[in-house]
Amino acid sequence: MPLFGAHMSTAGGLDRAFDRLGEIGGAAMQIFTASQRQWRPREISGGEAAGFRERWRAAGDVAVASHDSYLINLASPKEDVAEKSAAALAAELERCRKLGIEYLVMHPGSHLGDGVEMGIARIAAGLDRVLADGPGGVMILLETTAGQGTSIGATFAELAEIIGRSRFPERFGVCFDTCHVFAAGYDISTPEGYERTMEEFERVIGLSRLKFIHLNDSKGGCGSRVDRHQHIGRGRIGLAGFGLLVNDPRLAHLPMVLETPKGRDLAEDRENLAVLASLVR
Ligand code: ZN
Ligand code: MN
Ligand code: MN
Repeated sequence: MPLFGAHMSTAGGLDRAFDRLGEIGGAAMQIFTASQRQWRPREISGGEAAGFRERWRAAGDVAVASHDSYLINLASPKEDVAEKSAAALAAELERCRKLGIEYLVMHPGSHLGDGVEMGIARIAAGLDRVLADGPGGVMILLETTAGQGTSIGATFAELAEIIGRSRFPERFGVCFDTCHVFAAGYDISTPEGYERTMEEFERVIGLSRLKFIHLNDSKGGCGSRVDRHQHIGRGRIGLAGFGLLVNDPRLAHLPMVLETPKGRDLAEDRENLAVLASLVR
């Protein structure tokens, strides 16, 4: 059985995310380690980091990833934005190191009109600069994207190219987002399409790089390039598609977290996890 869980709010303190995960009975979690809307968020204190690690130990065998700020865009043609992005990414890695989080999920970036090739070159160069100076021990998971706007990472080949250009390929893995992959044109809603998708992932990137999965159904159709998440089974991927994924022996031990819409309480997360559990054979 995969490690199911959800993206959790850290409102009230980073360690509060574990309380929320406990409320839904999750075994995997994603958090933001700082405000996603600030270029220079405050630093995590030693006490806060110790508290987080302690709560993590008490929570047991929970897989935790951090997701980077939405402001970060290493592919930006604007030099000041690319510069601020590199600094912010370095700070993301440092916060992960402090908290003991092994994975940082990041969106590759958007080329904003300069083209995919130029965008990939900028991302790879920016990543290498950050990795050369930054702390080790944290793996960057490039997230598959829906291809909305000028975002890079809608094909497995684009992610493979970024990793292939790096001087530090061992520092990279991939986060597979079901909504994004489907919207980008990989039809994981049918057995044939699902198998073709996984074969392509294995051939182009390698399944050994797959470390984390985002479970979201999709409001948009296959190939729509629309990044709109929906509750599991209520979107265009549907229960059949998720049934294939959660029973795939190649993914059996991977963390899989929801990023589906939720209100103030966690009822929707609980419901989505119940749906997923009911699909596991
Ligand atoms: Zn993401
Ligand atoms: Mn995602
Ligand atoms: Mn999304």
